Parts: sequence; structure tokens; C-alpha cells
Amino acid sequence: MFDLSGPGLTAKNVSFVDEKEFAAKYPGGDIEEQLKFIFWYDGGHVSTVAGKIFYSYLGYIFLEHPPLNPRTQMGTVEELVKQGVKDGYFWYRFLTDPMGRISPRDFIALYIGGITDISGSQARRSIRMQMYDHTAYVKTLVHEACHLYVSVAFRDAVNDRKDNQEIFGDAILSKVLLEGFAERFAREVMAANPAFGPVVEAYPLEFGQVVRLVAALGEDSIRKAYFKGDAGEIKNLMKTVDLYKANTITNVTNPDLMMPVP
Ligand SMILES: [Zn+2]
Repeated sequence: MFDLSGPGLTAKNVSFVDEKEFAAKYPGGDIEEQLKFIFWYDGGHVSTVAGKIFYSYLGYIFLEHPPLNPRTQMGTVEELVKQGVKDGYFWYRFLTDPMGRISPRDFIALYIGGITDISGSQARRSIRMQMYDHTAYVKTLVHEACHLYVSVAFRDAVNDRKDNQEIFGDAILSKVLLEGFAERFAREVMAANPAFGPVVEAYPLEFGQVVRLVAALGEDSIRKAYFKGDAGEIKNLMKTVDLYKANTITNVTNPDLMMPVP
């Protein structure tokens, strides 16, 4: 459906491993950034492991406090990550539960179902999938496959943006452009193939921002930019991102109605 060519997904470039092996093999160089992202994302929800760790770190082990928002406390998130990596574990206490401990790698494995190394050319890429109790979702594999097929030009254009760690809408820009797009295409594949099973949704914030970009650019444009590395369409996409960023209109009742056209 995306008119793909070149090296593709085969049994040779996908491996399935259990939680332990997935955690052990998670690339060391990516750990701190991934941890920061997870706490930024989920640390505000005290019912989650990330939330319990974040609240515990700030000294709140009971519920007598206002909700915390890690997205406005990036400095604290960075400190917490640094401390956990140094200690080799994060700890949490919640209400009367016994103290919990989890290593940074095991913590990442709780949140991440698959990983695709997209650093090289398409022919050199591979996917590692995590199995829970000997199973994994097809949806996760489809999402990872969408990473596998990202064009080198698109990936480089994202990495070259100096502002790619800034917030775009309500998500981090690099995550919007890499995770949001992979998720968007994965959901299309799932919708076209009901036999692939349940659509387990991931990256809702990033997906939401991609919906805005697609509204401005159209499906054909984003497919050409992402999969084909079409220079003109990548330029259009990046220009649209800039237009959204430059939009200084305040007090709009519905930000989705603001659709700049490149
Ligand atoms: Zn992904």
C-alpha cells in the first residue's frame, strides 16, 4: 500500500526475544534519552510504575499532594534519570505497598515492545521484538517495520533539525516525526488488514500532531516524504512544521482548526 521497494522485512532482520534479553540488549547509548522520555510521558500518572517512581523521588508516597506534572519539570526528570542510572535502579513506594525496585533496563522493557536500529542504510537495519509470555502484537511489529522502511533522507532531515528536542504541539518534535509517523502508517496497515489482530495504540500525543500535519499536507505528500525520501515533500513537511511553530495566535478555541498550507 505504500509502494515500497528495495530491501524488505524478512525473518533475517527480525528477532524475537523475551523480556530479560530485550532489556539486556537495549542499546546502552539510548538508555538515558529513553528514560527521560518515559518519565516525561508517563511520570504524571501515579498509577503507573513511572508515576510511582517520579512521585517517590519527590517524596510523595501517599496521596496527600496535588498531581505532579513531569512535563513542566524536565530538570527534575533529568536528575532522577541520572540518579537511577548511577545507582543501577529506580525505587518507588506507594501507599502501603512494600518498596519496589527496578533497573533502568527492565523499566525500559516495561514500556517498549520493539526497537529498530535505523542508523544505517535500509539494507543494514534490523528489528528486535520483545515477547511477553511468548507472544507479541503484530501491531508492534508493523510499527517497527514502518521504522525499518523510513527513508535515509527523511531520517536525516529530522536529525538535522536543531529544534528536534523542542515541544511541538504537546509532544517532542523528533518523536512526532519519527514515532508519530511510524504509528500513523502502522495504524493504516492495521486498518487495511483486520487479520493482523488488535490495534494496540502507541504514541497518542505524537500521533495527534501527525494528524495536524497530514491535514495540511495530505496523505500522498507524507508518504513520499517518509518512505521515498522525496526532497520536495520533505521540504514541504519541514516548512509546515515551521509554520505551525511560528503560529502565534493565542486564545484559539480549537488548535486543530489552524492549518497552515506550505
Ligand atoms: Zn517506534
